[in-house]
Amino acid sequence: MLDTDLFLAWTEGAARAVRLHRDRLTGLDAAIGDADHGTNLDRGFTEVGKALTEWPPTSPAQVLVSAGTTLIRRVGGASGPLYGSLFRQLGKSLDAPVTLAGFAAAFESGVQAVERLGKAAQGDKTMIDALAPAARALTQAVQEGADEHKAFERAARAAEEGAKATIPLRARKGRASYLGERSIGHEDPGAASAALIMAALAEAAA
Ligand code: ADP
Ligand code: MG
Ligand code: MG
Repeated sequence: MLDTDLFLAWTEGAARAVRLHRDRLTGLDAAIGDADHGTNLDRGFTEVGKALTEWPPTSPAQVLVSAGTTLIRRVGGASGPLYGSLFRQLGKSLDAPVTLAGFAAAFESGVQAVERLGKAAQGDKTMIDALAPAARALTQAVQEGADEHKAFERAARAAEEGAKATIPLRARKGRASYLGERSIGHEDPGAASAALIMAALAEAAA
């Protein structure tokens, strides 16, 4: 069973990872965007932590819906509403108690919400390139009977591979798409942050 503390640990771990990698994320965004992705997410996840301290959640769903709402409200930039939708839809899709299979299905639904909002598909060089493979890896791990730590590790690895696979792609969504061919050869910042966030989930379950 996945409990409230696990999801709190996930948001805290994500906040630490984003802080640690803030300058790298902003540097990736400097190459193909407007050089604010690391600062956007650092501010957003700091606010997530504050809101969760001020209004302590009593269920996994509350942790995730609170995190998503805060990201939508506090992050200026495309990534706020997109990550906000991921966390809100993920939280709203969870049935209590949260099983690994339930989480995997809810995560798929969260990724679909991001795809709907951003009108992006895998291959467009966005965070979807990390999130969609992570969702598939998680579902497959569950079907194969993996435990939560193994399943989250597989999802994190798929996200990391998906992020690196954005390097040769030409961006078709978001600011980077304005660069056309010149977006080729750089890792997408949102895909890189999605890989960090999935790694934080695996660490939270370790
Ligand atoms: P902004 O581009 O508004 O400055 P950020 O720099 O915080 O916002 O986030 C940029 C990231 O958001 C991109 O690297 C990409 O992964 C993601 N992104 C942008 N547009 C879309 C979209 N339409 N669908 C999915 N992800 C997107
Ligand atoms: Mg930006
Ligand atoms: Mg911006």
